[in-house]
Amino acid sequence: MTEEPSKTKTTVYDNVVKQFNKAADLMGLDPDVRKILARTNNEIVVNFPVKMDDGRIEMFTGYRVQHNNALGPYKGGLRYHPAVDIDEVRALATWMTWKGALTNIPFGGAKGGIQFDPCECTCSEMERITRRFTFALGCNIGPEYDIPAPDVNTNAQIMAWILDTYVSTQPPHERQANVHVVTGKPVESGGSLGRDKATGQGVVYTIEEWAKDKGFDLNGATYTVQGFGNVGCWVARLMKQHGSKLLAVEDASGAVFNPDGIDPDDLLDYARKNKGLISGYPKAEPINHRVLLETKADIFIPAALENQITAKTAPLLNVKLVAEGANGPTDPDGDAILHKKGFDLIPDILCNAGGVIVSYFEWLQNKRSEFWDLKEVDGKLHKKIVDAYERVRNTARKFSTDWRTAAYVVALSRLETVYKERGIFP
Ligand code: GLU
Repeated sequence: MTEEPSKTKTTVYDNVVKQFNKAADLMGLDPDVRKILARTNNEIVVNFPVKMDDGRIEMFTGYRVQHNNALGPYKGGLRYHPAVDIDEVRALATWMTWKGALTNIPFGGAKGGIQFDPCECTCSEMERITRRFTFALGCNIGPEYDIPAPDVNTNAQIMAWILDTYVSTQPPHERQANVHVVTGKPVESGGSLGRDKATGQGVVYTIEEWAKDKGFDLNGATYTVQGFGNVGCWVARLMKQHGSKLLAVEDASGAVFNPDGIDPDDLLDYARKNKGLISGYPKAEPINHRVLLETKADIFIPAALENQITAKTAPLLNVKLVAEGANGPTDPDGDAILHKKGFDLIPDILCNAGGVIVSYFEWLQNKRSEFWDLKEVDGKLHKKIVDAYERVRNTARKFSTDWRTAAYVVALSRLETVYKERGIFP
């Protein structure tokens, strides 16, 4: 992977390139495999019109980047956000390839999204945007080819609209056989129990393993969370079951702090009545972004967007562990500082893999017309996460390297093996 020489600003994809090169150098990745993985397979950009509620037509730009499918169908979420662009989607798609390879699930990596602010749209506009995007993607997605899922600002309802639109374009006798075109669906529409909390649950399983390794008691442990969407909210609610204390939370509307602890369920009740936002929560005091980062706690869980822990912000953190619920929250400069400070880090492709793992379980249930109970889903997720955690820990020891690089080495080794076994056509 090489960076474009003309660019001055570092992008999210540049972070992926640096992380990849570091691991590839360390493990001596086969140079041919390195060339293949340094590029995305396909990049689809669609511009499509949508009729808004007031009758005017608005044009939207949507993306689907398919990084690699050596291990199985392309897999990854769809993001609705003003910052979505080709560079970000490329990075997120690449991380999905590593995530599937690391956790031993038969999926490749993809990601997509639409560049717009969903807060400015009504529910019926969201539905038409989603359906038109699905139609524009056409056969670039499919249950055995490329399977979208929720990501930032998308949810089970949006997956139901994608499912409905996709199958409506199939011949009638094939519709039922295509419900696994998306995962993260509502349970009644073919979703899996436990998928909604899966990413947060996976984060907490990795934190449990870390605590076991360190002989650290999570009961009474303190933590802070950035992001109170699906991931941040579920992490907080599940950490509560361990008796851990949430000191501070931040979302797009601001941050709040309470030294005696914030009850995540109570905060969620408040946010639900406040357009999903936490600002103004009466049982905690408002703080700014810097104070949130400086809050002394045992664990910090970034669960929002990329590039939050950087050369500028990493020095502010005062924790024992950073558990990356988000994709790409730490840039390479931030990584180096955390490492120097002696903080532990559970890297994104391990820490937040619970979502795509349970997506795999949903896909399997759909293909087999099965319906697993929550205990079965959680049990299987736990095993997958613990296995991946142990592979990363052992690889970090073997190569005397940081955990992110170790996670990459595990993922890249699997891909390297498959390329060597299969060779290149023709
Ligand atoms: N968007 C989630 C992720 O970044 C889930 C992807 C999926 O389930 O396919 O891992």
